[in-house]
Amino acid sequence: MITTKSKQELDLMRHAGKILAETFEVLREEIHPGVDTRHLDRLAYDFITSRNATPSFKNYNGFPGSICASPNEMVVHGIPAGQMKLSEGDIISLDVGVCYCGYHADAARTFPIGTISPEAARLIEVTRQSFFEGIREARVGNRLGDLSHAVQAYVESHGYSVVRDLVGHGIGAHLHESPDVPNFGNPGRGIRFAPGMTIAVEPMVNAGGYEVRVLKDGWGVVTKDGSLSAHYENTIIITEDEPEITTIGDGTC
Ligand code: MG
Repeated sequence: MITTKSKQELDLMRHAGKILAETFEVLREEIHPGVDTRHLDRLAYDFITSRNATPSFKNYNGFPGSICASPNEMVVHGIPAGQMKLSEGDIISLDVGVCYCGYHADAARTFPIGTISPEAARLIEVTRQSFFEGIREARVGNRLGDLSHAVQAYVESHGYSVVRDLVGHGIGAHLHESPDVPNFGNPGRGIRFAPGMTIAVEPMVNAGGYEVRVLKDGWGVVTKDGSLSAHYENTIIITEDEPEITTIGDGTC
């Protein structure tokens, strides 16, 4: 069932989103060659809990981290680890969830480590822009397929592919709610957007093919062909007008 949220619920989701945006600002300061992802995980935990919130991912289906940290060819769900040190030229996708008074926010960014290749920089930018192309369609009167198609068309027009096995999702009192929000599909199909719906839109974009596989740890998802992958996600609220993004703060993250 797809729920629409009350004003009080939306306010809690906005607050969770604000904390999440601030978490990225904190993390960004510490992202440099030589840092390990366990350190970033601890920073996120400390910051989120200092704001009277909890990291949504910690213990979610047994996930051990507070954030997902997925370098280079890893698409999503990387477990933060002390031995996962970041090097100049790497890219790292960080996915963070925040729960405040029972309501969630979910967002992801891919960051460069030091100086990266022009191709990696282009992948990050196309992934980010595909989110904005998609949410232009997230308005009353349109259907979910309009958003999905817009993301896919933009990504593929740049020679990249969208992951099919993983999708965005509704969000609210639960981290993952109905509906699924694919980054591929046909316009004019799927549910109609209604005011008060809250969804996490999260293009996962591969430089090569769209196929992925799961690592032996049961969590990490990597590209099958070893190509680079980037991720960009925000939690949005459908309104009578433009969609409202809850997880972008005053900074540039
Ligand atoms: Mg998500």
